[in-house]
Amino acid sequence: MVKICCIGAGYVGGPTMAVIALKCPSVEVAVVDISVPRITAWNSDQLPIYEPGLDDVVKQCRGKNLFFSTDVEKHVREADIVFVSVNTPTKTRGLGAGKAADLTYWESAARMIADVSVSDKIVVEKSTVPVKTAEAIEKILTHNNSKGIKFQILSNPEFLAEGTAIEDLFKPDRVLIGGRETPEGFAAVKALKDVYSQWVPEEKILTTNLWSAELSKLAANAFLAQRISSVNAMSALCEATGANVTEVSYAVGKDSRIGPKFLNSSVGFGGSCFQKDILNLVYICECNGLPEVAEYWKQVIKINDYQKTRFVNRIVSSMFNTVSNKKIAVLGFAFKKDTGDTRETPAIDVCKGLIGDKARISIYDPQVTEEQIQRDLTMNKFDWDHPLHLQPMSPTTVKQVSVAWDAYAATKDAHGICILTEWDEFKKLDYEKVFESMQKPAFVFDGRNVVDAEKLRKIGFIVYSIGKPLDQ
Ligand code: NAD
Repeated sequence: MVKICCIGAGYVGGPTMAVIALKCPSVEVAVVDISVPRITAWNSDQLPIYEPGLDDVVKQCRGKNLFFSTDVEKHVREADIVFVSVNTPTKTRGLGAGKAADLTYWESAARMIADVSVSDKIVVEKSTVPVKTAEAIEKILTHNNSKGIKFQILSNPEFLAEGTAIEDLFKPDRVLIGGRETPEGFAAVKALKDVYSQWVPEEKILTTNLWSAELSKLAANAFLAQRISSVNAMSALCEATGANVTEVSYAVGKDSRIGPKFLNSSVGFGGSCFQKDILNLVYICECNGLPEVAEYWKQVIKINDYQKTRFVNRIVSSMFNTVSNKKIAVLGFAFKKDTGDTRETPAIDVCKGLIGDKARISIYDPQVTEEQIQRDLTMNKFDWDHPLHLQPMSPTTVKQVSVAWDAYAATKDAHGICILTEWDEFKKLDYEKVFESMQKPAFVFDGRNVVDAEKLRKIGFIVYSIGKPLDQ
Protein backbone atom coordinates (compact mmCIF):
# COMPACT_ATOMS: atom_id res chain seq x y z
CA MET A 1 0.00 0.00 0.00
CA VAL A 2 1.38 3.41 -1.01
CA LYS A 3 1.64 5.72 1.96
CA ILE A 4 1.21 9.46 1.52
CA CYS A 5 1.85 12.07 4.16
CA CYS A 6 0.93 15.72 3.76
CA ILE A 7 2.61 18.30 5.96
CA GLY A 8 0.14 21.14 6.46
CA ALA A 9 -3.57 20.59 7.13
CA GLY A 10 -4.80 23.92 5.79
CA TYR A 11 -7.09 25.06 2.99
CA VAL A 12 -5.01 23.12 0.47
CA GLY A 13 -3.57 20.16 2.40
CA GLY A 14 -6.88 19.14 4.00
CA PRO A 15 -9.22 19.09 0.96
CA THR A 16 -6.54 17.84 -1.47
CA MET A 17 -5.63 14.88 0.67
CA ALA A 18 -9.27 14.08 1.49
CA VAL A 19 -9.98 13.80 -2.24
CA ILE A 20 -6.87 11.66 -2.86
CA ALA A 21 -8.02 9.34 -0.04
CA LEU A 22 -11.52 9.15 -1.50
CA LYS A 23 -10.37 8.46 -5.04
CA CYS A 24 -7.53 6.09 -4.14
CA PRO A 25 -8.86 3.60 -1.58
CA SER A 26 -5.64 1.61 -1.78
CA VAL A 27 -3.53 4.59 -0.70
CA GLU A 28 -3.12 5.48 2.98
CA VAL A 29 -3.14 9.22 3.53
CA ALA A 30 -1.99 11.01 6.69
CA VAL A 31 -2.41 14.77 6.98
CA VAL A 32 -0.17 16.20 9.67
CA ASP A 33 0.18 19.63 11.20
CA ILE A 34 1.92 21.31 14.11
CA SER A 35 -1.33 23.08 14.99
CA VAL A 36 -3.15 21.01 17.61
CA PRO A 37 -6.48 22.92 17.31
CA ARG A 38 -6.47 22.44 13.54
CA ILE A 39 -5.92 18.68 13.78
CA THR A 40 -8.48 18.38 16.59
CA ALA A 41 -10.99 20.14 14.35
CA TRP A 42 -10.19 17.87 11.37
CA ASN A 43 -10.93 14.91 13.66
CA SER A 44 -14.25 16.41 14.81
CA ASP A 45 -17.62 17.19 13.23
CA GLN A 46 -16.65 20.86 13.03
CA LEU A 47 -13.97 20.93 10.33
CA PRO A 48 -11.51 23.83 10.57
CA ILE A 49 -12.48 25.23 7.16
CA TYR A 50 -15.79 25.74 5.42
CA GLU A 51 -15.82 24.30 1.93
CA PRO A 52 -18.95 22.97 0.17
CA GLY A 53 -18.86 19.16 -0.09
CA LEU A 54 -15.81 18.75 2.15
CA ASP A 55 -17.65 17.29 5.16
CA ASP A 56 -19.01 14.55 3.00
CA VAL A 57 -15.65 13.54 1.53
CA VAL A 58 -13.94 13.56 4.94
CA LYS A 59 -16.72 11.51 6.54
CA GLN A 60 -16.38 8.83 3.88
CA CYS A 61 -12.64 8.26 4.39
CA ARG A 62 -11.63 9.46 7.85
CA GLY A 63 -10.48 6.56 9.99
CA LYS A 64 -10.33 4.25 6.93
CA ASN A 65 -7.51 5.50 4.73
CA LEU A 66 -7.47 9.15 5.81
CA PHE A 67 -5.92 10.22 9.10
CA PHE A 68 -5.26 13.59 10.69
CA SER A 69 -2.45 13.74 13.21
CA THR A 70 0.01 15.97 15.04
CA ASP A 71 2.58 13.18 15.02
CA VAL A 72 4.38 14.76 12.10
CA GLU A 73 7.64 12.82 12.34
CA LYS A 74 6.08 9.36 12.56
CA HIS A 75 3.93 9.85 9.47
CA VAL A 76 6.72 11.48 7.47
CA ARG A 77 9.07 8.61 8.38
CA GLU A 78 6.55 6.01 7.18
CA ALA A 79 5.53 7.75 3.94
CA ASP A 80 6.62 6.97 0.39
CA ILE A 81 5.39 10.33 -0.89
CA VAL A 82 5.52 13.46 1.29
CA PHE A 83 3.51 16.46 0.14
CA VAL A 84 4.51 19.76 1.69
CA SER A 85 1.54 22.14 1.83
CA VAL A 86 2.65 24.61 4.46
CA ASN A 87 1.97 28.33 4.30
CA THR A 88 4.33 30.50 2.26
CA PRO A 89 3.29 34.05 3.20
CA THR A 90 4.98 37.27 2.18
CA LYS A 91 8.08 38.09 4.22
CA THR A 92 7.47 40.95 6.62
CA ARG A 93 11.06 41.56 7.73
CA GLY A 94 14.57 41.57 6.37
CA LEU A 95 15.74 41.00 2.82
CA GLY A 96 12.82 41.08 0.39
CA ALA A 97 10.34 42.17 3.07
CA GLY A 98 6.95 42.98 1.62
CA LYS A 99 7.56 41.00 -1.55
CA ALA A 100 9.55 37.78 -1.23
CA ALA A 101 7.91 34.55 -0.11
CA ASP A 102 8.72 33.57 3.45
CA LEU A 103 10.02 30.02 3.16
CA THR A 104 10.64 29.54 6.88
CA TYR A 105 7.90 26.93 7.24
CA TRP A 106 9.01 25.12 4.11
CA GLU A 107 12.61 25.03 5.22
CA SER A 108 11.77 23.70 8.66
CA ALA A 109 9.58 21.00 7.07
CA ALA A 110 12.41 20.04 4.70
CA ARG A 111 14.95 19.84 7.53
CA MET A 112 12.59 17.65 9.52
CA ILE A 113 12.05 15.33 6.52
CA ALA A 114 15.83 15.01 6.15
CA ASP A 115 16.24 14.29 9.85
CA VAL A 116 13.54 11.68 10.36
CA SER A 117 13.62 9.77 7.06
CA VAL A 118 14.92 6.22 7.08
CA SER A 119 13.86 5.29 3.52
CA ASP A 120 13.83 6.88 0.03
CA LYS A 121 11.07 9.43 -0.52
CA ILE A 122 9.39 11.57 -3.11
CA VAL A 123 8.95 15.08 -1.73
CA VAL A 124 6.24 17.08 -3.44
CA GLU A 125 6.00 20.86 -3.43
CA LYS A 126 2.27 21.46 -3.00
CA SER A 127 2.68 24.94 -1.54
CA THR A 128 3.13 27.80 -3.98
CA VAL A 129 6.83 28.58 -3.95
CA PRO A 130 9.22 30.81 -5.91
CA VAL A 131 10.71 29.31 -9.03
CA LYS A 132 13.96 27.47 -8.17
CA THR A 133 12.81 26.54 -4.67
CA ALA A 134 13.32 22.86 -5.49
CA GLU A 135 17.03 23.56 -5.90
CA ALA A 136 17.23 24.88 -2.33
CA ILE A 137 15.11 22.03 -0.99
CA GLU A 138 17.37 19.49 -2.68
CA LYS A 139 20.36 21.04 -0.93
CA ILE A 140 18.63 20.86 2.44
CA LEU A 141 17.50 17.27 1.93
CA THR A 142 20.81 15.97 0.67
CA HIS A 143 23.09 17.98 2.93
CA ASN A 144 24.43 15.91 5.78
CA ASN A 145 22.63 12.86 4.42
CA SER A 146 24.84 10.24 6.00
CA LYS A 147 22.05 7.66 5.77
CA GLY A 148 22.31 7.57 1.96
CA ILE A 149 18.60 8.16 1.50
CA LYS A 150 17.47 9.25 -1.96
CA PHE A 151 15.00 12.10 -2.29
CA GLN A 152 13.25 13.10 -5.49
CA ILE A 153 11.65 16.54 -5.52
CA LEU A 154 8.53 17.17 -7.56
CA SER A 155 6.57 20.34 -8.08
CA ASN A 156 2.83 19.74 -8.07
CA PRO A 157 1.22 23.15 -7.52
CA GLU A 158 -2.41 23.29 -6.53
CA PHE A 159 -4.90 25.20 -8.67
CA LEU A 160 -8.05 24.75 -6.58
CA ALA A 161 -10.12 27.82 -5.76
CA GLU A 162 -11.58 28.21 -2.30
CA GLY A 163 -15.35 27.88 -2.32
CA THR A 164 -15.22 25.33 -5.15
CA ALA A 165 -12.25 23.30 -3.91
CA ILE A 166 -13.92 19.90 -3.91
CA GLU A 167 -15.43 20.41 -7.36
CA ASP A 168 -12.04 21.63 -8.64
CA LEU A 169 -10.24 18.62 -7.15
CA PHE A 170 -12.77 16.15 -8.55
CA LYS A 171 -12.60 17.67 -12.03
CA PRO A 172 -9.39 19.68 -12.33
CA ASP A 173 -8.71 21.68 -15.50
CA ARG A 174 -5.24 20.17 -15.25
CA VAL A 175 -2.86 18.52 -12.82
CA LEU A 176 0.69 19.75 -13.22
CA ILE A 177 3.71 17.69 -12.22
CA GLY A 178 7.23 18.97 -12.67
CA GLY A 179 10.28 16.84 -12.06
CA ARG A 180 13.95 16.46 -12.80
CA GLU A 181 14.69 15.23 -16.32
CA THR A 182 16.65 12.21 -15.11
CA PRO A 183 15.63 8.53 -14.94
CA GLU A 184 14.96 8.92 -11.18
CA GLY A 185 13.02 12.14 -11.83
CA PHE A 186 10.86 10.49 -14.50
CA ALA A 187 10.15 7.54 -12.17
CA ALA A 188 9.04 9.93 -9.41
CA VAL A 189 6.77 11.79 -11.84
CA LYS A 190 5.24 8.49 -12.88
CA ALA A 191 4.62 7.47 -9.26
CA LEU A 192 2.69 10.69 -8.60
CA LYS A 193 0.92 10.44 -11.94
CA ASP A 194 -0.27 6.97 -10.93
CA VAL A 195 -2.02 8.51 -7.93
CA TYR A 196 -3.84 11.21 -9.91
CA SER A 197 -4.70 8.96 -12.82
CA GLN A 198 -7.08 7.07 -10.51
CA TRP A 199 -9.62 9.77 -11.36
CA VAL A 200 -8.04 12.43 -13.57
CA PRO A 201 -8.05 11.74 -17.34
CA GLU A 202 -4.57 11.15 -18.80
CA GLU A 203 -4.71 14.20 -21.09
CA LYS A 204 -5.29 16.49 -18.11
CA ILE A 205 -2.11 15.45 -16.34
CA LEU A 206 0.68 17.67 -17.61
CA THR A 207 4.31 16.95 -16.94
CA THR A 208 7.05 19.57 -17.26
CA ASN A 209 10.46 20.34 -15.89
CA LEU A 210 10.63 21.51 -12.27
CA TRP A 211 11.05 25.20 -12.98
CA SER A 212 8.18 25.38 -15.46
CA ALA A 213 5.84 23.80 -12.92
CA GLU A 214 6.94 26.13 -10.13
CA LEU A 215 6.62 29.20 -12.33
CA SER A 216 3.30 28.12 -13.89
CA LYS A 217 1.53 28.45 -10.56
CA LEU A 218 2.77 32.00 -10.03
CA ALA A 219 1.96 32.81 -13.64
CA ALA A 220 -1.58 31.41 -13.39
CA ASN A 221 -2.38 33.46 -10.29
CA ALA A 222 -0.81 36.56 -11.80
CA PHE A 223 -2.92 36.16 -14.98
CA LEU A 224 -6.11 35.66 -12.96
CA ALA A 225 -5.46 38.67 -10.75
CA GLN A 226 -4.47 40.74 -13.77
CA ARG A 227 -7.82 39.97 -15.37
CA ILE A 228 -9.64 41.24 -12.30
CA SER A 229 -7.53 44.40 -12.20
CA SER A 230 -8.15 44.92 -15.92
CA VAL A 231 -11.92 44.79 -15.53
CA ASN A 232 -11.77 46.89 -12.37
CA ALA A 233 -9.70 49.50 -14.17
CA MET A 234 -12.45 49.53 -16.83
CA SER A 235 -15.09 49.91 -14.11
CA ALA A 236 -13.57 53.25 -13.10
CA LEU A 237 -13.69 54.41 -16.70
CA CYS A 238 -17.26 53.16 -17.05
CA GLU A 239 -18.36 55.25 -14.09
CA ALA A 240 -16.64 58.29 -15.54
CA THR A 241 -18.18 57.92 -18.98
CA GLY A 242 -21.63 56.40 -18.54
CA ALA A 243 -20.69 52.96 -19.85
CA ASN A 244 -21.87 49.91 -17.90
CA VAL A 245 -19.13 47.48 -16.89
CA THR A 246 -21.43 44.45 -17.03
CA GLU A 247 -22.26 45.24 -20.64
CA VAL A 248 -18.62 45.94 -21.47
CA SER A 249 -17.49 42.66 -19.84
CA TYR A 250 -20.14 40.73 -21.69
CA ALA A 251 -19.16 42.23 -25.01
CA VAL A 252 -15.45 41.70 -24.38
CA GLY A 253 -15.92 38.15 -23.08
CA LYS A 254 -17.84 37.13 -26.21
CA ASP A 255 -14.52 37.23 -28.05
CA SER A 256 -13.48 33.60 -28.06
CA ARG A 257 -9.85 34.63 -27.62
CA ILE A 258 -10.79 36.28 -24.32
CA GLY A 259 -13.71 34.23 -23.01
CA PRO A 260 -16.35 35.21 -20.44
CA LYS A 261 -14.89 33.92 -17.15
CA PHE A 262 -13.36 36.03 -14.43
CA LEU A 263 -14.62 39.29 -15.90
CA ASN A 264 -16.79 40.48 -13.03
CA SER A 265 -16.01 43.88 -11.68
CA SER A 266 -15.82 44.15 -7.89
CA VAL A 267 -14.41 46.01 -4.95
CA GLY A 268 -11.17 44.11 -5.58
CA PHE A 269 -9.59 40.69 -5.27
CA GLY A 270 -8.56 39.16 -1.99
CA GLY A 271 -7.57 35.81 -0.58
CA SER A 272 -4.25 34.55 0.65
CA CYS A 273 -2.77 33.92 -2.80
CA PHE A 274 -3.17 36.56 -5.51
CA GLN A 275 -1.41 39.44 -3.83
CA LYS A 276 1.29 37.34 -2.21
CA ASP A 277 2.04 35.44 -5.40
CA ILE A 278 2.28 38.61 -7.50
CA LEU A 279 4.55 40.23 -4.92
CA ASN A 280 6.64 37.10 -5.07
CA LEU A 281 6.73 37.33 -8.86
CA VAL A 282 7.75 40.99 -8.63
CA TYR A 283 10.59 40.06 -6.31
CA ILE A 284 11.76 37.24 -8.56
CA CYS A 285 11.76 39.60 -11.56
CA GLU A 286 13.77 42.18 -9.64
CA CYS A 287 16.27 39.54 -8.47
CA ASN A 288 16.66 38.41 -12.07
CA GLY A 289 17.41 41.93 -13.32
CA LEU A 290 13.99 42.49 -14.90
CA PRO A 291 12.70 45.70 -13.26
CA GLU A 292 10.38 46.58 -16.18
CA VAL A 293 8.63 43.23 -15.91
CA ALA A 294 8.38 43.72 -12.13
CA GLU A 295 6.76 47.14 -12.69
CA TYR A 296 4.20 45.57 -15.01
CA TRP A 297 2.99 43.09 -12.38
CA LYS A 298 3.10 45.70 -9.60
CA GLN A 299 0.36 47.60 -11.43
CA VAL A 300 -2.05 44.69 -10.89
CA ILE A 301 -1.81 45.23 -7.13
CA LYS A 302 -1.84 49.00 -7.40
CA ILE A 303 -5.11 48.91 -9.35
CA ASN A 304 -6.54 46.53 -6.77
CA ASP A 305 -5.64 48.92 -3.96
CA TYR A 306 -7.01 51.82 -5.98
CA GLN A 307 -10.32 50.02 -6.44
CA LYS A 308 -10.76 49.59 -2.70
CA THR A 309 -9.87 53.23 -2.02
CA ARG A 310 -12.20 54.35 -4.80
CA PHE A 311 -15.03 52.35 -3.24
CA VAL A 312 -14.52 53.89 0.21
CA ASN A 313 -14.28 57.37 -1.30
CA ARG A 314 -17.51 56.78 -3.19
CA ILE A 315 -19.32 55.77 0.01
CA VAL A 316 -18.10 58.80 1.91
CA SER A 317 -18.70 61.30 -0.89
CA SER A 318 -22.19 59.91 -1.59
CA MET A 319 -23.12 60.20 2.06
CA PHE A 320 -22.60 63.98 2.01
CA ASN A 321 -18.86 63.77 2.48
CA THR A 322 -18.93 62.32 5.95
CA VAL A 323 -19.75 59.01 7.54
CA SER A 324 -18.84 60.22 11.01
CA ASN A 325 -21.00 58.42 13.55
CA LYS A 326 -23.20 57.01 10.77
CA LYS A 327 -24.00 53.33 10.92
CA ILE A 328 -22.88 51.36 7.88
CA ALA A 329 -23.95 47.75 7.54
CA VAL A 330 -21.18 45.67 5.99
CA LEU A 331 -22.65 42.59 4.36
CA GLY A 332 -19.96 39.99 3.77
CA PHE A 333 -16.44 39.91 5.12
CA ALA A 334 -14.97 36.74 3.52
CA PHE A 335 -12.89 37.38 0.40
CA LYS A 336 -15.46 35.51 -1.71
CA LYS A 337 -18.65 33.52 -1.21
CA ASP A 338 -18.71 29.91 0.01
CA THR A 339 -15.65 30.29 2.20
CA GLY A 340 -14.99 31.60 5.69
CA ASP A 341 -11.48 32.68 4.68
CA THR A 342 -10.77 36.34 5.30
CA ARG A 343 -7.08 36.46 4.43
CA GLU A 344 -6.40 39.66 2.44
CA THR A 345 -10.14 40.18 1.98
CA PRO A 346 -10.93 43.61 0.50
CA ALA A 347 -13.38 43.98 3.41
CA ILE A 348 -10.44 44.69 5.72
CA ASP A 349 -9.34 47.77 3.78
CA VAL A 350 -12.88 48.99 3.17
CA CYS A 351 -13.81 48.64 6.85
CA LYS A 352 -10.59 50.32 7.93
CA GLY A 353 -11.29 53.16 5.50
CA LEU A 354 -14.79 53.66 6.91
CA ILE A 355 -13.56 53.42 10.49
CA GLY A 356 -10.91 55.99 9.63
CA ASP A 357 -13.71 58.34 8.62
CA LYS A 358 -15.34 57.63 12.01
CA ALA A 359 -18.23 55.46 10.78
CA ARG A 360 -19.83 52.89 13.05
CA ILE A 361 -19.84 49.60 11.19
CA SER A 362 -21.96 46.54 11.79
CA ILE A 363 -20.63 43.48 9.99
CA TYR A 364 -22.47 40.33 9.04
CA ASP A 365 -21.00 37.34 7.23
CA PRO A 366 -22.58 33.86 7.41
CA GLN A 367 -19.23 32.08 7.73
CA VAL A 368 -16.92 34.53 9.48
CA THR A 369 -16.59 34.68 13.26
CA GLU A 370 -16.35 37.75 15.47
CA GLU A 371 -12.83 36.71 16.52
CA GLN A 372 -11.71 36.64 12.88
CA ILE A 373 -13.12 40.12 12.26
CA GLN A 374 -11.55 41.61 15.39
CA ARG A 375 -8.21 40.02 14.50
CA ASP A 376 -8.30 41.18 10.89
CA LEU A 377 -9.21 44.74 11.77
CA THR A 378 -6.49 45.10 14.37
CA MET A 379 -3.75 43.56 12.25
CA ASN A 380 -1.38 45.77 10.30
CA LYS A 381 -1.35 45.74 6.55
CA PHE A 382 2.12 45.75 5.15
CA ASP A 383 2.70 48.81 3.02
CA TRP A 384 5.39 47.81 0.54
CA ASP A 385 6.11 51.38 -0.52
CA HIS A 386 6.43 52.60 3.07
CA PRO A 387 7.54 49.58 5.08
CA LEU A 388 8.65 51.74 8.00
CA HIS A 389 5.32 53.48 8.45
CA LEU A 390 3.24 50.73 9.89
CA GLN A 391 0.53 52.01 12.21
CA PRO A 392 -1.40 49.67 14.45
CA MET A 393 -5.10 50.36 14.67
CA SER A 394 -5.88 51.93 18.00
CA PRO A 395 -8.06 49.89 20.36
CA THR A 396 -10.61 52.72 20.48
CA THR A 397 -11.31 52.47 16.76
CA VAL A 398 -12.08 48.80 17.23
CA LYS A 399 -15.01 49.95 19.38
CA GLN A 400 -16.62 51.38 16.24
CA VAL A 401 -17.10 47.81 15.01
CA SER A 402 -19.89 45.43 15.93
CA VAL A 403 -20.69 42.03 14.53
CA ALA A 404 -24.30 41.21 13.75
CA TRP A 405 -25.87 37.77 13.76
CA ASP A 406 -27.83 38.33 10.56
CA ALA A 407 -28.24 40.82 7.72
CA TYR A 408 -31.42 42.32 9.21
CA ALA A 409 -29.71 43.05 12.54
CA ALA A 410 -26.74 44.58 10.70
CA THR A 411 -28.91 46.87 8.56
CA LYS A 412 -31.34 48.01 11.30
CA ASP A 413 -30.99 51.77 11.82
CA ALA A 414 -28.12 51.87 9.32
CA HIS A 415 -27.58 54.88 7.06
CA GLY A 416 -25.98 52.74 4.38
CA ILE A 417 -25.31 49.17 3.31
CA CYS A 418 -22.08 48.09 1.80
CA ILE A 419 -22.00 44.66 0.13
CA LEU A 420 -18.51 43.19 0.09
CA THR A 421 -19.03 39.45 -0.52
CA GLU A 422 -21.31 37.93 -3.16
CA TRP A 423 -23.13 35.53 -0.80
CA ASP A 424 -26.33 34.27 -2.46
CA GLU A 425 -28.40 35.24 0.59
CA PHE A 426 -27.71 38.94 -0.05
CA LYS A 427 -29.60 38.65 -3.34
CA LYS A 428 -32.64 37.23 -1.57
CA LEU A 429 -33.02 39.61 1.38
CA ASP A 430 -36.40 41.22 1.94
CA TYR A 431 -35.16 44.66 0.91
CA GLU A 432 -38.52 46.32 1.62
CA LYS A 433 -38.19 45.22 5.24
CA VAL A 434 -34.55 46.34 5.25
CA PHE A 435 -35.51 49.75 3.83
CA GLU A 436 -38.20 50.25 6.47
CA SER A 437 -35.70 49.62 9.27
CA MET A 438 -33.01 52.00 7.96
CA GLN A 439 -32.29 55.71 8.36
CA LYS A 440 -33.23 57.81 5.32
CA PRO A 441 -31.97 58.45 2.76
CA ALA A 442 -30.94 54.80 2.67
CA PHE A 443 -27.85 53.99 0.58
CA VAL A 444 -26.66 50.73 -0.93
CA PHE A 445 -23.07 50.40 -2.15
CA ASP A 446 -22.83 47.14 -4.02
CA GLY A 447 -19.18 46.11 -4.21
CA ARG A 448 -20.00 42.86 -6.01
CA ASN A 449 -22.86 43.85 -8.29
CA VAL A 450 -25.13 41.23 -6.73
CA VAL A 451 -28.35 43.13 -6.06
CA ASP A 452 -31.01 44.13 -8.54
CA ALA A 453 -30.27 47.86 -8.44
CA GLU A 454 -33.45 48.84 -10.32
CA LYS A 455 -35.65 46.93 -7.90
CA LEU A 456 -33.91 48.57 -4.94
CA ARG A 457 -34.27 52.03 -6.44
CA LYS A 458 -38.00 51.44 -6.81
CA ILE A 459 -38.15 50.67 -3.09
CA GLY A 460 -36.44 53.99 -2.40
CA PHE A 461 -32.78 53.16 -1.95
CA ILE A 462 -30.01 55.25 -3.47
CA VAL A 463 -27.86 52.60 -5.14
CA TYR A 464 -24.24 52.68 -6.24
CA SER A 465 -23.12 49.64 -8.23
CA ILE A 466 -19.47 49.28 -9.19
CA GLY A 467 -18.79 50.26 -12.77
CA LYS A 468 -22.35 51.34 -13.54
CA PRO A 469 -23.67 54.79 -14.37
CA LEU A 470 -24.90 56.49 -11.22
CA ASP A 471 -28.29 57.41 -12.65
CA GLN A 472 -29.14 53.85 -13.76
P1 NAD B 1 -2.82 27.33 5.54
O1 NAD B 1 -2.21 28.40 6.34
O2 NAD B 1 -4.31 27.15 5.58
O3 NAD B 1 -2.19 25.91 5.96
C1 NAD B 1 -0.85 25.70 6.16
C2 NAD B 1 -0.70 24.76 7.36
O4 NAD B 1 0.67 24.36 7.44
C3 NAD B 1 -1.05 25.41 8.70
O5 NAD B 1 -2.10 24.66 9.32
C4 NAD B 1 0.26 25.32 9.50
O6 NAD B 1 0.05 25.07 10.88
C5 NAD B 1 0.95 24.16 8.82
N1 NAD B 1 2.39 24.14 9.02
C6 NAD B 1 3.29 25.14 8.86
N2 NAD B 1 4.54 24.70 9.11
C7 NAD B 1 4.43 23.39 9.43
C8 NAD B 1 5.38 22.39 9.78
N3 NAD B 1 6.69 22.65 9.82
N4 NAD B 1 4.93 21.16 10.07
C9 NAD B 1 3.60 20.89 10.03
N5 NAD B 1 2.66 21.79 9.69
C10 NAD B 1 3.07 23.03 9.39
O7 NAD B 1 -2.34 27.54 4.06
P2 NAD B 1 -3.10 27.10 2.70
O8 NAD B 1 -4.12 28.11 2.32
O9 NAD B 1 -3.50 25.67 2.80
O10 NAD B 1 -1.91 27.26 1.67
C11 NAD B 1 -0.80 26.38 1.66
C12 NAD B 1 0.01 26.62 0.44
O11 NAD B 1 -0.78 26.35 -0.73
C13 NAD B 1 0.49 28.06 0.27
O12 NAD B 1 1.76 28.05 -0.33
C14 NAD B 1 -0.52 28.66 -0.69
O13 NAD B 1 0.02 29.71 -1.43
C15 NAD B 1 -0.83 27.48 -1.59
N6 NAD B 1 -2.15 27.53 -2.21
C16 NAD B 1 -3.23 27.97 -1.52
C17 NAD B 1 -4.48 27.96 -2.13
C18 NAD B 1 -5.70 28.45 -1.39
O14 NAD B 1 -6.72 28.66 -2.03
N7 NAD B 1 -5.66 28.63 -0.08
C19 NAD B 1 -4.63 27.48 -3.45
C20 NAD B 1 -3.51 27.02 -4.11
C21 NAD B 1 -2.27 27.04 -3.48
